[in-house]
Amino acid sequence: MIPAQFTKLMTELENLTDSQVRYIEKWLKGTDSTSQLISELEERMVEKPECPHCHSSLINRHGKVNKMQRYRCKNCGKTFVATTATPLARLRYKELWLDYIRCMLDSKVLRECAKECGINLKTSFRWRHRFLALPSTLKASRLEGIIEADETLFPYSEKGAKKLSRPPHKRGMKAQKRGRSKEDWVPVLTVRDRAKNTYEAILPDVTTETLHKELVGKLEKDSVLCSDGYKSYIALSEKNDLIHKRLDMAGGIKVIDKVFHIQNVNAYHSRLKLWIKRFHGVATKYLHHYLGWFRYMDTPENLNENRLFHIQQQLMGT
Ligand SMILES: [Zn+2]
Repeated sequence: MIPAQFTKLMTELENLTDSQVRYIEKWLKGTDSTSQLISELEERMVEKPECPHCHSSLINRHGKVNKMQRYRCKNCGKTFVATTATPLARLRYKELWLDYIRCMLDSKVLRECAKECGINLKTSFRWRHRFLALPSTLKASRLEGIIEADETLFPYSEKGAKKLSRPPHKRGMKAQKRGRSKEDWVPVLTVRDRAKNTYEAILPDVTTETLHKELVGKLEKDSVLCSDGYKSYIALSEKNDLIHKRLDMAGGIKVIDKVFHIQNVNAYHSRLKLWIKRFHGVATKYLHHYLGWFRYMDTPENLNENRLFHIQQQLMGT
């Protein structure tokens, strides 16, 4: 290759996403035994075509799936790939999982994840929620010190459901004050201490009873709870032996004694809302998955290779 071409190639490589780079790394090395076995199986399919379902040798190429050649049997009409009916079929998927998780950590939408991993949209959807089920269970079990609490609203959505239980939203509807139009908005409570331990819950409402039920045993005694002073938080503080600092946003009291405020939680909500926009509205029944995903990503120490490896190990066991 002439030097100018090489320079051009290098420049183009800089535009690749992380998971594309990893794919190229793997491809250049070409040493992993699974892909070698797969290419051997694929070669064998060319040399000695055989349908794994009916053993007919009359087969046609039929597009690609999971980066593998797909075939269709002329005799029984079924489709298959070289690994069909071999123990490699499941392993091949598991290999792609790490790529898929990386795509998710890049906050890619379903279609992009599917394209990069060479899987179809249906599989992409299944995998997303399978992988998300894990981070959604990762939340702080205990908070202490200065604790900030606030809730934010998400529009109720039955996106993807075949039958709607109520008429769809009109465009341009704005958030109402809390406690009103309960069916249209879903309150999400975020409680975060200064060590960034974060607890989050989707609530049916923001009553004292609900807050108490959700947070019982999670807030260390004598901690300082900072809130916007909504009556449910006052009652919650009393019930749990917490010191309560009441901020009054509208009245201009945003910080008390320089340290008591809810600006971390509010900034967290802003980041969350901005991030979730890329999914163009998420179904309420999956909202906890997206919240967990963001919580996981918003903690930088979660994003190192070890944690990723740990997640993969847990998935391997499923
Ligand atoms: Zn067949």
